[in-house]
Parts: sequence; C-alpha cells; structure tokens
Amino acid sequence: MDYRNLIAGGWVATGAGTPNVNPSDISDILGHAAQAGATQLDGAIAAAHDAAPGWAVSTPQQRFDVLDFIGSELLARRDELGHLLAREEGKTLPEGIGEVARAGQIFKFFAGEALRQAGDILPSVRPGVGVEVTRSPVGVVGLITPWNFPIAIPAWKVAPALAHGNAVVLKPAELVPGCAHALAEIISRSGLPAGVFNLMLGRGSQLGPQLIADPRVNAISFTGSEPTGRGIAAECGARLKKVQLEMGGKNPMVVLDDADLDVAVEVCLNGAFFSTGQRCTASSRLIVTEGIHDRFVAALTKRMRALSVGHALEAGMQVGPVVDAHQLDQNQDYLRIARAEGGEVIGGERLARATEGFFMAPALVTDTTNDMRINREEVFGPVASVIRVADYDEALAVANDTEFGLSAGICTQSLKHATHFKANAQAGMVMVNLPTAGVDYHVPFGGTKGSSYGPREQGRHAAEFYTTVKTAYTGA
Ligand code: NAD
Repeated sequence: MDYRNLIAGGWVATGAGTPNVNPSDISDILGHAAQAGATQLDGAIAAAHDAAPGWAVSTPQQRFDVLDFIGSELLARRDELGHLLAREEGKTLPEGIGEVARAGQIFKFFAGEALRQAGDILPSVRPGVGVEVTRSPVGVVGLITPWNFPIAIPAWKVAPALAHGNAVVLKPAELVPGCAHALAEIISRSGLPAGVFNLMLGRGSQLGPQLIADPRVNAISFTGSEPTGRGIAAECGARLKKVQLEMGGKNPMVVLDDADLDVAVEVCLNGAFFSTGQRCTASSRLIVTEGIHDRFVAALTKRMRALSVGHALEAGMQVGPVVDAHQLDQNQDYLRIARAEGGEVIGGERLARATEGFFMAPALVTDTTNDMRINREEVFGPVASVIRVADYDEALAVANDTEFGLSAGICTQSLKHATHFKANAQAGMVMVNLPTAGVDYHVPFGGTKGSSYGPREQGRHAAEFYTTVKTAYTGA
C-alpha cells in the first residue's frame, strides 16, 4: 500500500516512500508513506486557503452531513480499521477497535455540534442599540498529531475544525501514516469540497516549521512531546498565531489506606500499563500511603506479572509492543536510571516472541522518591513507579510536585478526601476510583502547567480554539 498526500482533492505521490513497520513483527511492512517536501506543503496550504472562504459559509446541514458520513463509516469499519491501527501502532486489537469507534463517535458528536451553532443576543447598555455575539471560523488550521492515538487524535482535531467551518492541513506523526491515510480517504468521499481537508505525510521537523511560519495558516493545534510543543508556542507567539498545545504528563495516582484494594490495583494496572503505557494520561507515579503500601505493591506486582504481552493481533494479548526501537531503548534507559537512583525495578525485561518486535514486560519501580528522574520525566512506556507517603496531605503535595498537570487520580472511599482532591489536584482532569487514562469524548480534555497551553480540546469547549468571537452592535 502506498500512502499518498491529499492536496486540493487529489492524491499526490512523492519519490521513494518510507516503510511503515509493524512493531509486533518488523518483517511485516504495511506500506510506504509519501514524504512531502516544501512544494507539496505549499500546495496544500494554498488549497486550504482557497477553500476556506467557501466552507466558512457552508450551512450547518452541509457540515452535519459530512461529519456524520465520516463518523458512520468509521463506526461501520471499526474492526477493519482497528486491525490496521493495532498492526501499525501496536495497541492490542480490542484497544485498536475501541480507538476507531471513539474516532467515529467524535465525528458524530461534532456533526451534532455543527447544528448547534449558537450566539448571544443582548441588550446594549446604550438605549436603542442591540448587541450580537457570534462565532466565526478561524480560517486555515494546521493540525500536528502524535503516533500514540493515530486515529482518535486526528479525529478530535479534524472534526471540530470542520464543524466550526475551518479548512485543514493535517500533519500526522511519521510512525502512523496508515491510520491518517485511511481517515483522509474516508474524508475524501464524504462530500467535503476539495481543498477543505488536506493530508501531509512527512517529517515533522521539516514540515512543521513551514506550516507554522506560513501566514496563510491562521492557527496551529499540536499534540506531542513537550520540547516540540514549547518550540511551536514560541514560533506561534512571535507571529501572534493562535495556538493550542497538548503535551506530556507525569500523572499521579494516589492510593490511600482506606481504598478498596481490588479497585486500586485494577485502576493502577489499567492506568499504568494498558496501551503499553503509551498514553499522555498514563498513571506513572503511584503515590501510596503507608498502611496499604506493602499489600498494594504485592497485589499489583502479581497482576502486572500475569499480563500477557505479545503480538498486538494475537487473541488474548493485554499489552502490545512498544512503538519502535527508539522508544524501547528509552524505556530501558529509564529503568537503568531508576536503578542507579536507588529504585528497585520489578519486571521490565525485554521479551522474545515468535515474531521479532519491540516487546518488554511492564515494569514497576518501587522505593522511589519524587525527586528522582523516573518521577520527574515522562517515560512514555509500560513503566510506573511507587512513592511511599505518610498520609493524604503528603500524597497531595507529592502529586502536585511536578511540572506537568494533565490527569490526576485518587483511590479512596473517603468522600472528604475525594472532594478535597478534586478541588486541589493541579491537573486538568481528576479521577476518583478510576484510571487517570480513559476519558469521555463529549467533555473537555486538557491539562495545566507544562501539559497544555491554550484552549481545551473536545466537547463544546473545542469551539474556543476553532472559532473567533465577534461582537456586533446595531444602532437605530
Ligand atoms: P513528537 O513531539 O515527537 O511529535 C508530534 C508531532 O509533531 C509529529 O507529527 C511530528 O512529526 C511533529 N513534529 C516534530 N518536530 C516538529 C517541529 N519542529 N515542528 C512541528 N511539528 C513537529 O511527539 P510523539 O513522540 O509523536 O508523541 C508522544 C508525545 O505526545 C508524548 O510526550 C505524549 O505525552 C504526547 N501526547 C500528548 C497528548 C495530550 O493530549 N496531552 C496525547 C497524546 C500524546
């Protein structure tokens, strides 16, 4: 399969494409992806720029029909596309199917949002004057996405962009061209006018700066690593360009003495290790009070050790491979660092399977303190550490002692502590007796501090980024 770029409604190839490798079996090449250069990106931006005014005045019904078509097809093809996702990115097949279904639901939600465009009519403070507050499309939006949710993250940026009347240039991550191409192929048959949506496959370090610098691009929405995000914010700031960033996490999960042990273990197992721990919302710091610490570590270790790790498409697998060799090396490096800092590493071995892939056992690092690198830096793999604390007050202080602030959780049966934690955890999302990862698609998603910058994504709040507010006054 050759993955091509979509520019002004036409599929455009480049020279030799880069191979798309299955992380469960590196002998399995899914296809080759086009590598756009400056000229192709210029063409995509021009196409979006030309198409934007027409789409900005499209009717709610037109937008609904396009988004509903895309959502319906994603849902109908969830098994097939879930298989592609699992083969390309390494999520297990059920996780892959679940992600495709979520992408479909996101398009369905924003199909509804296209119909629910509303504004305010207010009396002026001046006699005889009327005030209208409405939302206008931003124009051309550049969307830059990571590899770890290869269809859901493009969906949660593309769907609101189109619902609110914008034209799009999507630049997905290099490791996952197949899912982006499949989504683009559906969009190309949805009835959307040519040029409103354009796909650019290629190197982020080359295409990203050009996309951001081009004055025809009015806004940038980025999800990815923190260093890349910081650079994008600086470039957009210098150009006074609207920007939205979703970045990393070092998400705390507090387990108090009064927690239901079974619930706490299940929540931490899921939050830390499912999707191979490659979630920005993964529970990577398990902050556990003294009275339950040893029982919790023993029970979680037992469950972690029993997880089946292997080929993402093999029935019964609970944890797929790490996404590539670089990420696997990085995970192993962090385990070495944790050991050197005094942590005790349980699990984490590299695993051999029938096919050659990037498999590692999930790892728990015990006896850590919050100042260790393993607790300060995002690992982005199936690795969680345990920090022992005296009580709730210390747990909250440790939870908040981080540069990140995406998701934070607590396992407790105490209403008092749950209520206090919801109010005082420095995070954009707070979970009580639920994993830090795994969120609904109809409510805002995003964080505080170094995790997010700019308006929230998803739900009704997505309108903040994808529209500009206009205030109009009418006199007598
Ligand atoms: P990354 O920063 O390496 O890449 C993200 C995207 O940016 C890719 O499309 C890449 O091609 C592009 N890019 C690279 N250099 C660029 C540049 N100079 N200018 C513009 N774009 C550039 O991140 P990744 O490794 O693909 O994804 C993993 C990271 O994403 C993790 O840190 C994870 O926490 C984060 N993430 C965050 C969220 C969230 O919503 N907070 C969700 C998923 C992933």
